[in-house]
Order: sequence, then structure tokens, then C-alpha cells
Amino acid sequence: MQWEKSTAAEIKSLVKEEVCIIPLGSLEKHGEHLPTGIDGLVAHKIALLAAEQEPVAVLPPLFYTYVKPMKNLPGAISIETDLLLSFLENVCDEVGRNGFRKIILANGHGGNNALLNVFAQHLIDKDKPYAVYIPPIFMAHDVIRKLLETPETGHACELETSFALYLYPELCQMDKLPEGFSTSQKDYDVSPASTSVDWYASYPDAYVGDAHKASAEKGRKMVEAQVERLVELIRKIKADDKVLKHLSEFALSLGHD
Ligand SMILES: [Zn+2]
Repeated sequence: MQWEKSTAAEIKSLVKEEVCIIPLGSLEKHGEHLPTGIDGLVAHKIALLAAEQEPVAVLPPLFYTYVKPMKNLPGAISIETDLLLSFLENVCDEVGRNGFRKIILANGHGGNNALLNVFAQHLIDKDKPYAVYIPPIFMAHDVIRKLLETPETGHACELETSFALYLYPELCQMDKLPEGFSTSQKDYDVSPASTSVDWYASYPDAYVGDAHKASAEKGRKMVEAQVERLVELIRKIKADDKVLKHLSEFALSLGHD
């Protein structure tokens, strides 16, 4: 059920299913050939396809997220860390206030991962009437790995471009793809430490590998596998009654019987 296209009564009737998906994306450069919002567009579409198989509410995608490592490239809109944490809490509180007790943060943008993990911990002792569940971006990694021909992926790459060619062919400008293979250009080695500029130093054009190897057919197989895994996950989460129970234990004060 697509929240913004549904009536109030339709949303209310879905509360019994307990689960609401919030797709998260980004606005940032994706090479020369993909649109800035592709992460949220794909995450949203996959959530809607899953909702066709298993009843679940799907919020509009959040495009305004965390893009700090790519901020110096045109097209990036990054929300400040503290504001985004508060904003996510506000959106989840509103979903919870509508009666949904289980919220899946279906993230499509790698740059959000660290923040989402902090967000989940941030909520742990707040006695919320809902739990958040954070799946990995690529739940069907085993299927995807077998389909990939290029060794380096991660952004505007063979993988992401295949998703886009299948779901949004009209938004792909394949004639703009640069020739050759875009490998890491990182010009320092401080391993095993990481720094905040590792990603940008590696891929300053926001393009990884070789998207010439991408295809709509690969994208179809990847999307179908992702949707299947998401449907399985929604069913697991519907069956789960332990996460909320454990969360309620964090709201109790210690030292009392
Ligand atoms: Zn992306």
C-alpha cells in the first residue's frame, strides 16, 4: 500500500498488518549516467513490489538524508547529522502514532548505514511503541554476486546501473558512460584505519567499476531476488514478538522488582 496514494481509511485498515516500510535514498552524484535520486527510487520501487505480495504500508521515500562524503560534488543535498536523527525519530513516531508497531528502514544508500545504526541504538531506551528493523541494502547478495561480471562495485556501477536499467530505463543516460574501468584512486594507505574521506579519495567521480556490463536483464533477476527476500523478511517481522518485548525492558528503571 502506497501511503501517499491511499485514503485515511485504507491506511487505518492496514494497521492490523503492523509493518510499515520507510524507503531511504539520497540525492548525490551517481556517475555521469544515473540520476541523483536513484537510491531512493529503487528502494521505493522494491518496497512497492514486495507490498504487492505481502500487505504492508510503504511511506514515500526519504530523499533528504546523509551524503556528507559526497557533498563536494554537484547535486548533493546532505542533512546535518543531528537534524536527520531527529527527523527520522519524528517520522517513525508519526508512523507509530498511526498504529504501526514495526518499522522497516529499507535503505538504498550506503552513506546512511552508519547513521541508521546509531539511530536504532538512539531509540533503544526511549520506550517507543514501535521497533525499527534495518535490513542490509542488498539482501540478495548471493544472487547478485553470481550475476556480476565486474570485480569492483558499489556506486553507479554494474550492479546499481542494472537495477536502474530494469526499473527506470528512461532515467539512464548510457551514452554518457565514460570508457574504461573506474578503479580506486586512493593515494594513501592508513589501513587498517578508516577515515571520512576514504570513499571520495577512492572514487572522486562517484563512479565505480564498469557499468557497460550492466543490463536490464541482470537488473530484473536482481530486483526479483531482492523483492523475494524482502517479502520473506516482512513475514518474519510480522511473526516476531520478541524485539518489542526486549525493547520494553530498556525503559524500566533498574534496581526495582
Ligand atoms: Zn546509489
